[in-house]
Amino acid sequence: MKRTCLFVLLAAACPGQDDRYARLIEDILIFDAHIDTPRYFLDEGYRLAERHSYYELDLPRLREGRVGAVLFGIYAQPQDFGPEQWLPRALEVLDCLHQEVKRNASGIEFAFTSDDVLRIRKAGKVAALASLEGGHLIAGSPRILRNFHRLGVRYMTLAHFQNNAFADSMTDQPLHGGLSQQGKDLVREMNRMGMMADVSHISDKAVVDAVNTSRSPVIASHSSVKAIAAVPRNMPDGIIRAVAAQGGVICINFHAGYLNAAAHDVYIRNRPKREAEIKAAGTDWERIRRIQKRYYDYMPRVSVKELLRHIDYVARLVGPDHVALGSDFDGVSGMVPVGMEDVSKYPVLVKGLIEMGYKDEDIRKVMGLNLLRVMRENERRTER
Ligand SMILES: [Zn+2]
Repeated sequence: MKRTCLFVLLAAACPGQDDRYARLIEDILIFDAHIDTPRYFLDEGYRLAERHSYYELDLPRLREGRVGAVLFGIYAQPQDFGPEQWLPRALEVLDCLHQEVKRNASGIEFAFTSDDVLRIRKAGKVAALASLEGGHLIAGSPRILRNFHRLGVRYMTLAHFQNNAFADSMTDQPLHGGLSQQGKDLVREMNRMGMMADVSHISDKAVVDAVNTSRSPVIASHSSVKAIAAVPRNMPDGIIRAVAAQGGVICINFHAGYLNAAAHDVYIRNRPKREAEIKAAGTDWERIRRIQKRYYDYMPRVSVKELLRHIDYVARLVGPDHVALGSDFDGVSGMVPVGMEDVSKYPVLVKGLIEMGYKDEDIRKVMGLNLLRVMRENERRTER
């Protein structure tokens, strides 16, 4: 009883949390490392300008969420498309992103550098950046990757759900035992052009190889914590430490099934049925969304608190300089945490981190500055 009174008194004697929140939200840089919306521009004519009641990102909701910058994912899952479609599809989706940004120039602008991100944010707009998800998208050619860099791609995930010539995927059988020689050469080439190497999706050994090969800090653009949820896509402590020791950053994935192992069990158990239904729906996007919603409802609810736990775990393990956000919005098949349903909800994380006792400086780092720092480091170490 005494303790409760003391706690209540202390809380009453410490006003200012609301002030802190109001001050922070005014100018904090919220920077998400991985959002997969662009394929919807191509496949469905999804429009950034309109507010939608489905999917997880559009311009009105970015504004509501005070979002400063987004690294948009360009992808063609190797299991969904034939090899001859990988490169053309990546180029088409990237073009759609550029076109969609151009159409909404008063609210969003393409950023090519970390300075661009700050300038665009200061002008009150959202900075849009691009990334490539999977080394299979570049037809084995570092020259093609160099052209993607010219088009604004600022990181590439070394592998997606399957192995490729460069790297073993975490969700495939080991082929190279980590990175291949070609993969190591590619990482050095990425260092030279100032493109970040992304170690999400790749095997633990491949992460170690990437960290040991790269001269610049690497990122895990959308990966959560295995010690909390032991699922294949998450990172064990040793790997989180290796990425952090090299100066890199782990951007936490919001997928409910990666935040919570019980949710993952249900997700995986239902996946074959869900995917068969989606395949049968063809390009009936509305029907696909209904199927996804139904399977989402089978999963146990996962809360924002669980997401904050993953962030806090990495901050405690390796320090607040090495954790960031990589929601994977629009890439999680609608499997979002309750209270973090779309990009309008990021301010909830600012509030949550204040409540957990984080300093303003560290909240700023987690919400965006850590990712910006790693991007800047990669630019700085470029060999021209
Ligand atoms: Zn992914």
